[in-house]
Amino acid sequence: MSTSAITPRPHLARLSPYQPGGKLEYDGPIAFLASNENPLGPSPAAVEAMAEAARGVHLYPDPTYQALTEAIAAAHAIEAVDRIVVGAGSDEVLDLLIRAYAGPGDEVLHTAHAFAMYRIGALAHGATPVSVPERDLTADVDALLDRAGPATKLVFLADPNNPTGTMVGADAIRRLRAELPAHTLLVVDGAYAECVDPAVYAELLAFARDRDDVAITRTFSKLYGLAAVRLGWGYLPSATAALIQQMRSPFNVTSPADAAGRAAVADRAHLDASVTHLVKARDELRSALTQLDLPTPESHGNFVLPRFPSPEAANSAAAHLRARGVLVRVVAGYGLPDRLRISIGTAHDHERLLDGLRGWLAREPQELASH
Ligand SMILES: *Cc1c(COP(=O)(O)O)cnc(C)c1O
Repeated sequence: MSTSAITPRPHLARLSPYQPGGKLEYDGPIAFLASNENPLGPSPAAVEAMAEAARGVHLYPDPTYQALTEAIAAAHAIEAVDRIVVGAGSDEVLDLLIRAYAGPGDEVLHTAHAFAMYRIGALAHGATPVSVPERDLTADVDALLDRAGPATKLVFLADPNNPTGTMVGADAIRRLRAELPAHTLLVVDGAYAECVDPAVYAELLAFARDRDDVAITRTFSKLYGLAAVRLGWGYLPSATAALIQQMRSPFNVTSPADAAGRAAVADRAHLDASVTHLVKARDELRSALTQLDLPTPESHGNFVLPRFPSPEAANSAAAHLRARGVLVRVVAGYGLPDRLRISIGTAHDHERLLDGLRGWLAREPQELASH
């Protein structure tokens, strides 16, 4: 209990910490299946570029990030390079958008099982996060439209969504935008864009190009395998981009991150190999889990979300796996207590996971393991 006379701004009392995927004390190699990282690792070219950049870290980075934004623009057929803003992870871009547009009295809408940072960011800036019901764990465009009103400054929609793995696609997003109030900025979070048909985000980027009320965020943390580098970007309306450029700290992206990002977008082969592995391994894992009587719906992300017979069963399975060096994500904090979110790993990771789950099923009392 703090007795300090130095008191934080009152709205910050509503904050609760982001629950990370977690680390694990385990004597041996760990299967990291809790944070949707790329099991194939980073592009070797990105690693080399960072090593090279490391020699120059006594100098500040180029604060315009011109080479990086040009590389990103070229890779995504974006003409207006000045509409791209880079950040320390897309988390930073999301936070800057909230800081720019929402504060006390303003609402920030997100779907019921949304990425936690929308709520945390809204609360951090004194705005009111509003959780909007989904339908079958999928964003419900009509429910979002029903809820949006005069106070709604931002709507966040991750497509595909984490942790549900569901998506609504470009047509639904176009309709959402068309019917949202004119004073509301729609933010499409494309953290898992690389997991889906490239036509989807090509279409969304083209849609956003002709509007001043749609922002799209992307990240190097997931399929590009650069989570620890902290690099993301937003394709923003021109006026928004200009504003965010003034708000962000001038050197928000480190020069190793800048170099890694440029090398990663140039290494198409690594991205393609990562996507190919993902699609095949995700199918295999889904059917293996389903065979273990853990119903696992289709996922458009680099993770799956099997259902356990009860919240107790999900927790006990996660603990059993942890004790065997397999780290999966408990998503009770996301309102999904009978699920575990399991990132797609290597074939070896999946063997360890499935062995662990078989052991758990064999050991558990009947009422936990069956349904
Ligand atoms: C992982 C994730 C992000 C954030 O990634 P950064 O590492 O900050 O780029 C953003 N949105 C969703 C939905 C995510 O799952």
